[in-house]
Amino acid sequence: MPREDYEVVIGLEIHAELKTKTKLFCSCKNEFGGEPNTHCCPVCMAMPGALPVINKTAVEYAVKAGLATGCSIEKNSKNDRKNYFYPDNPRSYQISQYDKPLCNNGFVEIEDEDGNKKKIGILRIHIEDDAGKLNHNEFGGGSLVDLNRAGAPLIEIVSLPDMRSAVEAERYMRKIKSILEYIEVSDCKMQEGSLRADVNVSVHKPGEPFGTRTEMKGMSSFRSIVRAIEYEAQRQIDVIENGGNVYQTTIRWDEISGKTFPMREKENADDYRYFPEPDLAAIRLSDEYIESVRASLPELPESRRERYLKEYNLTEKDARLLTASKYLSNLFEGALEKCGNAKACANWILSDISRILNEKEMEPDQIPFTAEELAKTIELIDKGTISSAIAKKVIEELFENPQDPEVIIKEKGWIQISDEGAIREVVLKIIEANPQSVADYKGGKDRAIGFLVGQAMKETKGKANPGMLNKMFVEELNK
Ligand code: ADP
Ligand code: ZN
Ligand code: MG
Repeated sequence: MPREDYEVVIGLEIHAELKTKTKLFCSCKNEFGGEPNTHCCPVCMAMPGALPVINKTAVEYAVKAGLATGCSIEKNSKNDRKNYFYPDNPRSYQISQYDKPLCNNGFVEIEDEDGNKKKIGILRIHIEDDAGKLNHNEFGGGSLVDLNRAGAPLIEIVSLPDMRSAVEAERYMRKIKSILEYIEVSDCKMQEGSLRADVNVSVHKPGEPFGTRTEMKGMSSFRSIVRAIEYEAQRQIDVIENGGNVYQTTIRWDEISGKTFPMREKENADDYRYFPEPDLAAIRLSDEYIESVRASLPELPESRRERYLKEYNLTEKDARLLTASKYLSNLFEGALEKCGNAKACANWILSDISRILNEKEMEPDQIPFTAEELAKTIELIDKGTISSAIAKKVIEELFENPQDPEVIIKEKGWIQISDEGAIREVVLKIIEANPQSVADYKGGKDRAIGFLVGQAMKETKGKANPGMLNKMFVEELNK
């Protein structure tokens, strides 16, 4: 199919659960998990007559998110009822925001696939409450409802349809995740559903108007989002190429088959019969309030990156990779403070640690060891106690069984051999065993030294001090 003849358009509605102590409209605990129906009260169970009271911290967090993404803050905001029936929502309506969201017209910057900076517009950010959960099939095929999550505070961040590929969509969502983590309004645990996206996709021929979109709800893994967009765009292209029409529908991505399936016709705003929530007062924000929230914002990824470039003399790319995640950059700063070696801290985080995260399919917030343990590992290299070959093994061990690296190397017997006598012994042994390399070296092939050092490292299981090995080989071979 002539995929190149089409342009793909993507817009995301990202839902992030706010990490307030209590729910949005009652004082129930806002906490993931727990025995079913233990974090609820008449308000979040929708008992008749129970009245909502808005959580000020949730409003503050939403304003923070807006300010961190360049939005203008609406000083006269309000809540609206969005009516729909679903069994995990006992009120039969959600309290959301319709025409006066807290935040409007922001943007974040990403890199497009050619490495150029690109702005992705944010239409709005509003607050709303989450639904409960249905637990299916646990008891003889029926469903039971758990309302622990009902009434949990969410922000919904609605992007403009500004993304043109699955890669851009992933980068945009990673950027939003990173910002929300920096400003500490959401823990963004995708595996627990506290960050999820409704993904809207359409296709059209360049120069023609945008196509009709389909929407996939509640996606909570980057991998599925990328796969689903790629599949769905191609499916729509095939439909159009075969003379058919794409209809505005809600579709479902199935991870196992790698396909999308239609679920229902997409509802429109009038289906929801929005009207102002009569049980809540309007939300009025003063300029002083907005400015005080702005003043409380921490350093954001962009300015941190700028600072890293200036202060630590890192490359543009390293600074960007480190600051993309609050967890990586906190690890960097924490380790740097202890060991003072910026280059080494950046290198270990961006090479071995990132590689292991990838292999284990872990996110940076799941790194099990501390900045101090990383710093100590680096100090052990700097002091010559271990080689960097051993340090690699220490880092791996820190992922498995995090503890003081000094204890690790003692227990494993990984201390570097820096004793001259012991090193000379190995050097002589390797020289004797490799006459060809010795001849090569004497014949002018300097590279033969590298091979001999490698053999000596193998012999000592990576424990010999490589600098001393090098020096001693040169000495012995020139005798
Ligand atoms: P709804 O709640 O009905 O889905 P919203 O306005 O909240 O409507 O969200 C619409 C989302 O769809 C936005 O993220 C927007 O960027 C995206 N979108 C709108 N038109 C298109 C399109 N033609 N193709 C892809 N995405 C689109
Ligand atoms: Zn409650
Ligand atoms: Mg939608």
